[in-house]
Amino acid sequence: MEQTKYILEEKRMPTHWYNVLPDLPDPLPPPLHPGTKQPLGPEDLAPLFPMELIRQEMSSERYIEIPEELQDIFRLWRPTVLYRAHRLEKALDTPAKIYYKYEGTSPPGSHKPNTAVAQAYYNKKEGIKRITTETGAGQWGSALSFAGALFGLEIKVYMVKCSFYQKPYRRIMMETWGGNCVPSPSEETAVGRKILAEDPDCPGSLGLAISEAVEDAVSRDDTHYSLGSVLNHVLLHQTIIGQETKTLMEDIGDYPDIIIGCVGGGSNAAGLYLPFLKDKLDGKKPDLRIINVEPTSCPTLTKGLYAYDYGDEAGMTPLLKMFTLGHEFMPPPVHAGGLRYHGMAPIVTHLHKLGLVEATAVHQLGTFEAGLQFARNEGIICAPETDHAVRVAIDEALKCKESGETKTILIGLSGHGHVDMAAYDAYLSGKLEDYEYPEEKIRAALKHLPLNGK
Ligand SMILES: *Cc1c(COP(=O)(O)O)cnc(C)c1O
Repeated sequence: MEQTKYILEEKRMPTHWYNVLPDLPDPLPPPLHPGTKQPLGPEDLAPLFPMELIRQEMSSERYIEIPEELQDIFRLWRPTVLYRAHRLEKALDTPAKIYYKYEGTSPPGSHKPNTAVAQAYYNKKEGIKRITTETGAGQWGSALSFAGALFGLEIKVYMVKCSFYQKPYRRIMMETWGGNCVPSPSEETAVGRKILAEDPDCPGSLGLAISEAVEDAVSRDDTHYSLGSVLNHVLLHQTIIGQETKTLMEDIGDYPDIIIGCVGGGSNAAGLYLPFLKDKLDGKKPDLRIINVEPTSCPTLTKGLYAYDYGDEAGMTPLLKMFTLGHEFMPPPVHAGGLRYHGMAPIVTHLHKLGLVEATAVHQLGTFEAGLQFARNEGIICAPETDHAVRVAIDEALKCKESGETKTILIGLSGHGHVDMAAYDAYLSGKLEDYEYPEEKIRAALKHLPLNGK
């Protein structure tokens, strides 16, 4: 009998998150204050985040305890299953072994509640009543609305306007969990009103929605802001994925040669690979390959500039040293696969700079093609984001077929695509095309970077 599903017993769920910061060979460049451009202190972040999350953001502790109350909530959907993709391996006729860790079984359908619930918990503990955030297609807004429901917190979501009207189902999920979702740009903030006065038909962008959510949060004492990716504490919370996987693979007696994840801001991929990266840093698995996959229409790691940039369009957030396409980046309308953020997690950026992880960009038609092949063999219909990782995993497995190598490939299956069927419909009816973000636009963005590209 070939085993297909590997699941940890609940009592073996990780009790600590893994913090990579103390293990990095070089320290991360510090975040800078958007006004003074000087390194930030904890007090500068206090209007936005609870102290415990600020502490985690800068912590030098290697293992950070997951509070028991949080572990209890995680057990609603964790531990998640690690699958061996026997049927896909056969279909590809590859000697490679393919595993995937599936995060689509959480209530909102992705990895995002791993951090949403943790963030809501620490905000609640510090007396916060209300949290604001932004969302693109609605994955993050729905995860935070779910978390808000668990802790009785009011959640206000600024949703990129074009998605708000084109993708109503995630808005309805947010409302079902009690969240309040408005299209961004909105009339509710000064940034939103200014943009609407200039361009009433502005379709919105993630960077702009962040500006609105941050303005809303800093203008009220009972309100904080929450970000679903990019920041160190978000990646920290996602390491529960990699730690579960590592324990399971130890039980199986296998170890990945290649780990593949899709990257928007970098949180699900890093959450999966950071606990394994520790073995690479410790010299236990020096030839482990880690591949971050992004769309050619938003090629942050493969074509972006390595520079300090704002996290939002209006320039209100701290400056982070990251790969960036410029904070005024607008994703092309033909792109249906998510992963649209202009920047990248400083941790992922840094690891890529140090040559410890790889990055590759893939065209969207190939990602949907891979998604269909996966669905027709493994059954799961992945989120379009996740299909980026599946594409590269299939390509690596086919390389193994040519070379005859029996590599072990591990995929981060970040979520299901049940609320993204319109994107699959566009693919199936031939409405999508490939798109490469032009070099000129990236060079033009350089002119608007806050420290002139430093
Ligand atoms: C949000 C999302 C992503 C991208 O975000 P990361 O922070 O890079 O993980 C990928 N997959 C799914 C299913 C998502 O919802």
